[in-house]
Amino acid sequence: MKRRVNLGDALEAWMEMQTAERGELADHIAPELLYSVLIEPRHEQREDVLDHVIRCSPCLREFKDMAASIEEAAAWDVALPKAAGSELAWPKKIPTNDGKYLIEIRRSLSKEDSGVITLRVEEPFRSAIEGKTVRVFDGTRRVLLRGQIVDGEVSQPIDALSTIVSEFVVLTD
Ligand SMILES: [Zn+2]
Repeated sequence: MKRRVNLGDALEAWMEMQTAERGELADHIAPELLYSVLIEPRHEQREDVLDHVIRCSPCLREFKDMAASIEEAAAWDVALPKAAGSELAWPKKIPTNDGKYLIEIRRSLSKEDSGVITLRVEEPFRSAIEGKTVRVFDGTRRVLLRGQIVDGEVSQPIDALSTIVSEFVVLTD
């Protein structure tokens, strides 16, 4: 019996071949560079990057995926402090991994275990996320902040700072 080959299989095989061929020849564009070209229209390497991308199917595919996820301002964002497990200085400033948000936690001078938590939306994502309701959870899924983004940010008082477990998740409704 003949094996049926559909268009998806054929495309996949072609992609694999392209990847294998290109993998040895070319230096592909690092994901970080692809990303910065996407979010910075005036990036100095933009032309070189796009010139590679339009000729290289693996990079083109990655570029399209990234563009799609930026466009829909995907609902999940995870933030891990760089020095995991260690005590960060106050105020704590923790960017989410995809650069969409900055979480900032300030401690009150008079009441040391309480303070204010702020979520800021970084510039390229502001118009997409403006007016949405966001929630910030910590590693135990405690809700640290819930509110509406106004003018690119939202703040709320917070207590029991010492019990916050790093590994923040930002959820956009
Ligand atoms: Zn490439």
